[in-house]
Amino acid sequence: MQSSSVRSRHNAFTALELDRGSEHRDDSVWLAEHRDAPTARYLILSVDGRALLAADRRRLHEFNVVERGRFAPGAAPSFLGSASGSDYFLLCVDDAVAANAAAETGAVALDLRSAGASLPAFDAGLFAYARGLAHWQQRTRFCPACAAPLKFEAGGHRAKCTNPQCGIEQFPRTDPAIIVIVGDGDRCLLGRGHAWPEQRYSTLAGFVEPGETLEDAVRREVLEESGVRVGECDYHSSQPWPFPASIMLGFTAQAEDATIHLGTELAEARWFSVDELVDGLKARTLGLSSPLSVSYRLIEYWLRQTAGLELAALTHDDPPAIMRR
Ligand SMILES: [Zn+2]
Repeated sequence: MQSSSVRSRHNAFTALELDRGSEHRDDSVWLAEHRDAPTARYLILSVDGRALLAADRRRLHEFNVVERGRFAPGAAPSFLGSASGSDYFLLCVDDAVAANAAAETGAVALDLRSAGASLPAFDAGLFAYARGLAHWQQRTRFCPACAAPLKFEAGGHRAKCTNPQCGIEQFPRTDPAIIVIVGDGDRCLLGRGHAWPEQRYSTLAGFVEPGETLEDAVRREVLEESGVRVGECDYHSSQPWPFPASIMLGFTAQAEDATIHLGTELAEARWFSVDELVDGLKARTLGLSSPLSVSYRLIEYWLRQTAGLELAALTHDDPPAIMRR
């Protein structure tokens, strides 16, 4: 039986082997020295949240200190952490800078989902981390208490109100969302969103609300969306999901009352037997969320536990790069 820490490492955008070096964030001397050293690597994010894929198409293109001075001398770096003798910084640039660098280096723009599907775990995880931080910085400009401008500190990880009468601090936020596969014997509960194609289904999910435990959120979301009452539920694994600022918390659960009363959030919620899943996937009349998602991992886990079957053998999606390693 795998632990949740092992299961989480199999999710996309995880297994980032990086020392975040939080003890250095308030050390301006250390930051300045390492920011301008030959060991500095700059992950480039344009305003639209895309990074650069290197000319060899196998990894992210990062600026070295010379390229930073040439392409983006005015951009303020944020410290991400250290790995393998390099210190990684985030550099947010405008689209023209990214396009200019791409044209000269042979790099191309790459979105985060594509990175998760094709790049090594380190590159995909670093991109996810950087994109979450960049999004928070872009959307955190004014103090929520007094509306004065904010100033970034701590290597980009803290925003402080510039009004001396106020001075409150903001930190990068992550919104917790639960996602759950509910079982009832050899059936599992899946739903289809209003905007989704016919025959495409996913596990149920939703944001945790104030005053709830994660288990409360599982029971409430399943009841609201499908009318099904959940009894026991257990944590499975987690995944950073910076689209734009979530963490997905995967659960397995058992139905207490399997009667479906559809809520307003989904176009459809229904039980699938193992046979229906297998037949639908083989015939391509049933589609699931991509292997990047916790939804896929939860269905994979449930199918293995319930019927000893491997989901990857039934689907036609390429697994993400991190699963191939
Ligand atoms: Zn303020």
